[in-house]
Amino acid sequence: MKIAVAGAGALGGRVGIQLHEAGVDVTLIDKWEEHVNAINEKGMEVHTEDKVYQVPVKAKLLEDIDESYDLIIILTKAMYAEDMLQALYEKNSIHAETAILTMMNGLGHGDRLAKYVSKDRIYLAVTMWTAGLKGPGQIVLTGSGGIQIQRADGIASKMTEEINDIFNTANLNSIISSDVQHSIWAKATLNSVLNPLCSILDKRIGEFAAYGAVIEMITPIIEEIIEVAAARGINLDFDASLEKIKAAFPDSAAGLHYPSMHQDLAKGVQTEVDYLNGKISEYGKEYGIKTPNNDMITHLIHQLEMKNH
Ligand code: NAD
Repeated sequence: MKIAVAGAGALGGRVGIQLHEAGVDVTLIDKWEEHVNAINEKGMEVHTEDKVYQVPVKAKLLEDIDESYDLIIILTKAMYAEDMLQALYEKNSIHAETAILTMMNGLGHGDRLAKYVSKDRIYLAVTMWTAGLKGPGQIVLTGSGGIQIQRADGIASKMTEEINDIFNTANLNSIISSDVQHSIWAKATLNSVLNPLCSILDKRIGEFAAYGAVIEMITPIIEEIIEVAAARGINLDFDASLEKIKAAFPDSAAGLHYPSMHQDLAKGVQTEVDYLNGKISEYGKEYGIKTPNNDMITHLIHQLEMKNH
């Protein structure tokens, strides 16, 4: 199977090098020229806790793509996924049977991708793997993770099994889910609480958690998400959602870290808030559900994004 990772930054880099190391025909596609050139000149430089090594994975600039792929894994930030797909479509990189898999954080990606291919060719994935970018052609990999995948129309298929097998050959710890939307919403709930609040407050997750009334503070945000999720047929449990967030609090978990949204604002780049709290507000309006907490959070993050430009 010929695979492309479209958006080959931190996480795309991780998935790409692990597929390459497993002997898969994989191409990293990105529009960041310095990054692509560095990968092609000396391989992707991978930094782990105990070693630095080079992986000679193929990388191409989006503008130089002249081939099609059987599977395209979209790993741009959420707001650039459609630009990426449109460009690949115009370059005939999406053939009649190409499968498109999204592993991005946030909500609503299946519906957005359905503008380009039918739902029986879209695969939704959620991952607990993490990765960081050190510089052009350099990624930092720590910890372990896993992937859950399911075809967007919920129907089992041979292709789902093939993708799952390839991911496992690449040690990505993949499982086929029978309800990936639930996992996507559960992760989006965590991200919609910790990402914007730690960014607005300029706090590490552990510092945020140290506030005595933190549970009281986050409860209404979670409740709005659960109500909107229920309107879309996804049954999130309040206690389980809260436990998942609390599990990130200790230093031994994510307590010492700033969430990625904080890092995006520090770098002066756009955040994914419109696919987290912003999506909750958008769906809320669609279903006549009031979401004042998520609305305000979205506005505050947009204000912070403006400050950067
Ligand atoms: P990143 O910024 O490191 O990488 C995104 C890459 O996409 C960049 O290299 C950028 O140049 C490229 N890109 C953006 N727009 C493009 C376009 N129009 N054409 C071509 N290339 C384009 O981001 P990331 O951290 O790898 O995150 C990617 C997605 O994965 C996000 O949705 C994120 O929330 C999710 N995610 C990340 C992690 C993580 O630990 N990094 C973990 C789980 C999920």
